[in-house]
Amino acid sequence: MYSCRQASRILSDAIERRLSPMEWLNLRLHLTICGMCRNYAHNIRTLETVLLRLRDQATDSAQALSASDRALILRNIEAIAGDADTGPSAP
Ligand SMILES: [Zn+2]
Repeated sequence: MYSCRQASRILSDAIERRLSPMEWLNLRLHLTICGMCRNYAHNIRTLETVLLRLRDQATDSAQALSASDRALILRNIEAIAGDADTGPSAP
């Protein structure tokens, strides 16, 4: 069975990848007996939910822009990126 340190690492890993069946089982066993890690797991799930909502809202906001506004923003980004490629100009 996992220690609290191992369980917290696996809980963090679970955000980015699918756990193996053995990892999932060991984590479940640990969460059954450890209230602190259950709270940590709850907090991670809440944080992940909030971040996903913020990402969706940002995507919705970007799609709300008109085509001309998106083109203007893209031109400005490309201009800034072009300046970064050439470096500062000589006086
Ligand atoms: Zn624990």
